[in-house]
Amino acid sequence: MPSASASKPAAQDASPAAPAPAARGWAGVGSQLAGRLAKLDIHRPEDLVLHLPLRYEDETRITPIEAVRPGFPAQVEGEVSSCEVTPHPRRQLVARVRDASGTLVARWLNFYPSQQKMLAPGRRVRLFGEVRGGFFGDEMVHPRLRPVAAGEGLPEALTPVYPTTAGLGQATLRRLIDRALAVSPLDDPLPPAVCDALLLPSFADAVRALHHPAPDADPAALEQRHHSAWRRIKFEELLVQQMSLRRAYNARRARGAAALPARRELTDALLAQLPFRLTGAQARAVAEIAADLAAAHPMQRLLQGDVGSGKTIVAALAMLQAAENGYQAALMAPTEILAEQHWKKLAAWLEPLGLHVVWLSGSRKKREREAELERLRSGEALLAVGTHALIEDPVNLPRLALAVVDEQHRFGVRQRLALREKGIAGEGAGLRPHMLMMSATPIPRTLAMTHYADLDVSVLDELPPGRTPIRTRLVSDARRDEVIGRLRAACSEGRQAYWVCPLIEESETLQLQTALETFETLSAALPELRIGLLHGKLKADGKSATMAAFAAHELDVLVATTVIEVGVDVPNASLMVIEHAERFGLAQLHQLRGRVGRGSAESVCILIYAQPLSQTGRERLKVIYEHTDGFEIARADLRIRGPGEFVGARQSGLPLLRYASLEGDVDLIEPARTLAEQMLRDMPQAAERLMARWLGGREALLRA
Ligand code: ADP
Ligand code: MG
Repeated sequence: MPSASASKPAAQDASPAAPAPAARGWAGVGSQLAGRLAKLDIHRPEDLVLHLPLRYEDETRITPIEAVRPGFPAQVEGEVSSCEVTPHPRRQLVARVRDASGTLVARWLNFYPSQQKMLAPGRRVRLFGEVRGGFFGDEMVHPRLRPVAAGEGLPEALTPVYPTTAGLGQATLRRLIDRALAVSPLDDPLPPAVCDALLLPSFADAVRALHHPAPDADPAALEQRHHSAWRRIKFEELLVQQMSLRRAYNARRARGAAALPARRELTDALLAQLPFRLTGAQARAVAEIAADLAAAHPMQRLLQGDVGSGKTIVAALAMLQAAENGYQAALMAPTEILAEQHWKKLAAWLEPLGLHVVWLSGSRKKREREAELERLRSGEALLAVGTHALIEDPVNLPRLALAVVDEQHRFGVRQRLALREKGIAGEGAGLRPHMLMMSATPIPRTLAMTHYADLDVSVLDELPPGRTPIRTRLVSDARRDEVIGRLRAACSEGRQAYWVCPLIEESETLQLQTALETFETLSAALPELRIGLLHGKLKADGKSATMAAFAAHELDVLVATTVIEVGVDVPNASLMVIEHAERFGLAQLHQLRGRVGRGSAESVCILIYAQPLSQTGRERLKVIYEHTDGFEIARADLRIRGPGEFVGARQSGLPLLRYASLEGDVDLIEPARTLAEQMLRDMPQAAERLMARWLGGREALLRA
């Protein structure tokens, strides 16, 4: 690759940069350069080897100026016919370059004397960039500039372009990477049989092919990253991710926990008394959890099931299994409304079995609360439900053996750990509680297999019988009156409805104001209906009274902010209206829509949107309109937002994938998973070596 090294103007390297953080130099890299590299998360030669091109540029051809097409990158070569610095409208360097076919204008808004020198009239240069129609005719703005001698040869292969940061030019990066390629061990810890089976080249061949493509390499395969060299890298990345997550999983399994064998006393009693039978999916999840709880190491299980799939009863049965063994279990929910609802449900199910369920809520009177806390502290009460109140200081759960976290993505790692810690200090010192995380945001299989590989997963992929599908309508806000008409009609037939007010992210006050206005408008338009208002600023007992009135059908319509987003379960509600639906995320819309369709009446969800719709707003509404299956929606969400956003709330410092994509590389995930197990077990040194190459010291982040 003779051409690659000099093709970036020196100016780029010297361009003004934000002051780099203080960094220590390494392997011939001075401290200033080290600081810039650190911004790219490059700290050692091996990181440079894995700093792979973002894309490639084709400098193997010269295009005649006349033939350059606007909007497509091209390289031209010619003689400078003029070059001047113009002061207006902004100081800039403007040069004209001429070849046999025509003349092109090149323009730089930031430039250096070195560039001016290269552009002296009569000099030969190559310019690489995109042409667009400008004031002076066709022009290239900030093209890459390279002085050449007449008849100088062209590079034979594609030129890599690297992700970079201010003050760090492509030329410097290439030089550093070439040196790193020369000094780093490019050893291959993968078993050769695996590479053969997957048609993957060796690591050394792969990185060389990506940094220095062969002249005959297929440009499309490199560009779109399905070249075998890319596949090797992506496979290794997936493999390392699997191994580090598995290792974290194994480390946790090595800890002790109270073994809670299924005694089938209380659990069977509850099942006998339920008005319904468990679905097949629920029965499977219950069995998986029961087996985990019976073991003497902590369960780490994610129960995921679409909205309405019946996770609560599964949690209740798990909690009973703890109680049967004389241990405590706690269920933590993200909102007051949801916690109260869970408590009511659990109490209705479990009090007849002679079990007291403690409800810890901010709204309970101090004396009541004290008494309840004492019952937990003494171990007399075995079951507790609450919000974050559960992890606050005065709460003491000395015999806690099972912690259930509902809507787990709403909590940070710290909060989930805090709940777990509640059990360590007490009687079972040294033992860790079993953890059951629940999520109604279905996680696409690929994501579950990669980013959640440190958890066991149970899936409720079946809804309880007797549900009628929800119909979804998209209505422009110009037709709000029609929607009000539908609301009147539904309620006059004895149904109930939710009216969700727009999400206003910038201001809670504004959001509250809109809710109040909506409440007033609807009350004025529909005087015959009983309308309630629910929002985040209400006191806890106000919220709970309103919710109870709605559940008891003392209200026909509940105007609400997104406080009702998760979990709320009122089967008689069959109409959901969401205003400014375009402002909500897909998961949120799906959750909100899931508040209806819980009874036998046909349910409708009306999404009111305001024009003009943004591209993503339109895309999201289309997805929610076309799909009711949470997994489909989650997959679309993953595609629109990417996995970073998707797992963001997990807040555990998980290394996200840099090169592999969950959409495009599905076929590599399964083999990576299988090999990860095998390497950790049979080839610990090779496994260690691979993790060191990819993660350096970064693996520690995973331990939470
Ligand atoms: P999730 O938390 O998964 O969204 P819930 O646990 O709130 O769902 O359950 C939704 C509704 O379905 C509740 O009213 C619950 O009592 C009911 N339900 C749960 N399992 C079944 C079942 N197997 N058959 C019928 N109804 C069920
Ligand atoms: Mg729920």
